[in-house]
Amino acid sequence: MSIEKIYLHWSATPYNFVKEGAYHTIVQGDGRILRLSGYDQFTFHTFRRNSNAVGIACACMGGIPWRDFPPTQIQIENMCREAAALAKQLGWKPESISDLPHVNRVLTHAEAAANRDFGEISARLSTGVSDSSAIRNGLPHNNYGPSRWPDGWPGGTVERWDFFQIKESDPPGSGGDALRKMIREFMVSPTKSPLSEAEEVKILLNGENIASGFLLDENRYYVKLLDLLRPFDIELGKVKPGEDRFINLISNQLTPKFLADLPLIQGFPTVDIYLNRPIDLEGNPVGDIRNPIRPFIGGVLIEKSTYVPLSDFCNELGISFAVVIDDTRSIRLSR
Ligand SMILES: [Zn+2]
Repeated sequence: MSIEKIYLHWSATPYNFVKEGAYHTIVQGDGRILRLSGYDQFTFHTFRRNSNAVGIACACMGGIPWRDFPPTQIQIENMCREAAALAKQLGWKPESISDLPHVNRVLTHAEAAANRDFGEISARLSTGVSDSSAIRNGLPHNNYGPSRWPDGWPGGTVERWDFFQIKESDPPGSGGDALRKMIREFMVSPTKSPLSEAEEVKILLNGENIASGFLLDENRYYVKLLDLLRPFDIELGKVKPGEDRFINLISNQLTPKFLADLPLIQGFPTVDIYLNRPIDLEGNPVGDIRNPIRPFIGGVLIEKSTYVPLSDFCNELGISFAVVIDDTRSIRLSR
């Protein structure tokens, strides 16, 4: 599936909502990110717009809107971090993501529902008509978005209004531009490699030094993925370069737990990392809606190598680890 759009949703649920086969990624109320499906997998998230798009949702806005589960600050930020990482992975430039009046690549569900990626004249042809008439008029669906937009865009049937605004007190219609601004900021690359300036520790497995760890965000050490494979009898499977890059690992002993993760450090291309990703003879993934194929951790590409947060790797695969801050400055792993 080639990805042309990213849709930003709220799930109209409590903060801990999880459902596979719908959104590719759900950000929970505490900001933790659940990757439920690889971004190259088809899932159902945005009415009649799923064949070329990714859906990322904040689990929020269930119950009485704005009162019971309003979007949290960390949740919105981490949704934007995730969208920024994906946009970067796709090779999009921050300046290529347009704002209202005509949005192109990153849309809130409110904007998608209102066909704000089409011209206003076309959008009028999708308003106040049946879905089939809208489709006959060349639109993906009828206008089921917010009832009025401050710039006079035709109002819809209000079935969806995800992120029409971020806070109840914000101006109506301002949500998309505010989220895109945040996403663009998260896409900016650092000018130099962070490895040389990061605090470095030794990674020890049963006393043997197997790798170096680099403290790249507040409290997480990143390790070169390749260094972690042989010590845990993991084989390197398919490595797909390019815009939808991923790495598949192979192990007949380890099974990931698919826990929620924190966002990766920003500004670097991301790499989805799978374990035993099923593929057919041509190397294509063989997941379906009921069994989506999901990466178990994410990594970032720094100086042409993939680095992963060590804690994510260990937690997912049941490897215990202890950070030892004595004069050896090491992290000790044990199987
Ligand atoms: Zn939605």
